Amino acid sequence: MSMLMICPGCGVKNRIPTEKKHLSPKCGRCGTSLAGAPISGIVNPLTDAQFQQRVEQSAMPVLVDMYAPTCGPCQMIAPVIAELAEAFAGRLMVYKLDTSSQGMTASRLRIRGVPTLLFYKNGVMVDQLVGAAPQAQIEARIKTIL
Ligand SMILES: [Zn+2]
Repeated sequence: MSMLMICPGCGVKNRIPTEKKHLSPKCGRCGTSLAGAPISGIVNPLTDAQFQQRVEQSAMPVLVDMYAPTCGPCQMIAPVIAELAEAFAGRLMVYKLDTSSQGMTASRLRIRGVPTLLFYKNGVMVDQLVGAAPQAQIEARIKTIL
């Protein structure tokens, strides 16, 4: 088993054997520590401060789940997003941004409600999906950015 971690320094993908995860791995190209680096295959928490680097400068396509912890439809689609993250491991980065504690990005992008799913390709938002959409619909949108 291995995980795909994205280097916060140079953006290159690093394949880290799961059993070596605790050894605070470093990037194979630039040597930046991969501690806390986002992983392709899971839903990574995201902050406003990380948004530009991790989403708008990502070489890999990105899905962002703009959610709020108290929102029912958000809780409904959370397991769907997790499943899709796993299904597209190595090809897609998936993040979730809590708009109730992190409001800057939501206001900058004029997000009106949650959940809103944002689809990024080459750092540009190419699509948005508002509300709790069915899994097949989300999956179809993901395929358009791969
Ligand atoms: Zn690196």
